Amino acid sequence: MNNPYEEIENNLRNVKARIKRAAEKSGQKPEDIALVAVTKTVAPERIKALLSLGVCDLGENRVQEMCGKYDILYGMCRWHLIGRLQTNKVKYILDKVSLIHSVDRLALADELQKRAEKLQKQVDILVQVNVSGELSKAGIEAGNALAFLKELSYRENLKVRGLMTIAPYFKNPEDTRYVFRRLRKLFIDIKEENINNIDMDYLSMGMSNDFEIAIEEGSNMVRIGTAIFGPRLTH
Ligand SMILES: *Cc1c(COP(=O)(O)O)cnc(C)c1O
Repeated sequence: MNNPYEEIENNLRNVKARIKRAAEKSGQKPEDIALVAVTKTVAPERIKALLSLGVCDLGENRVQEMCGKYDILYGMCRWHLIGRLQTNKVKYILDKVSLIHSVDRLALADELQKRAEKLQKQVDILVQVNVSGELSKAGIEAGNALAFLKELSYRENLKVRGLMTIAPYFKNPEDTRYVFRRLRKLFIDIKEENINNIDMDYLSMGMSNDFEIAIEEGSNMVRIGTAIFGPRLTH
């Protein structure tokens, strides 16, 4: 029988080698690429195996699942909320989450601001951009991103740290390249605007199927599930 710990260890080694190669290809330092391990559907025991290998940034796309694992893994990791966030769930995560990747509308920003102010806390967020225009994808349209960011800059308890996107799935990951290239351009353009209270530190793009292309196009934060933990049964 396969030892799950060994499987995760091998997968992680492989992912890190691929990150390193892609980083070098694009003139980035491998250590500047943040790895967020996506743990949706993964049982806590297997997550602990990963934590023992030194990965400490974990991503979940559902609030309830994140909160459950937050309690079980208390103090062992940082949490990233990477999925769609409903305004009525904001109150459950503000004290738990390190970075919210999926802010894409003012109603959500307002709720985050209100709750964060109450807690006298600053919340780090990324703005999710729907680069491809796929209807099924969340995220603000690329053409509206700048105006949206200017609005966010007035919300004092929110700290925008960068942008995030989910590329469409293509069998050939090379086909995703234009998506990453466009978001990278937007990232640079926004940086040059020097908007008060808006930082462009993180460009969160790249998943198991396409992270090397994303890094080649300038990603410095990849969100990887399957390539570390193996195929998921649900979600
Ligand atoms: C599930 C998920 C990932 C990871 O997907 P894999 O293909 O398993 O690497 C990354 N980002 C988001 C937003 C996700 O929901």
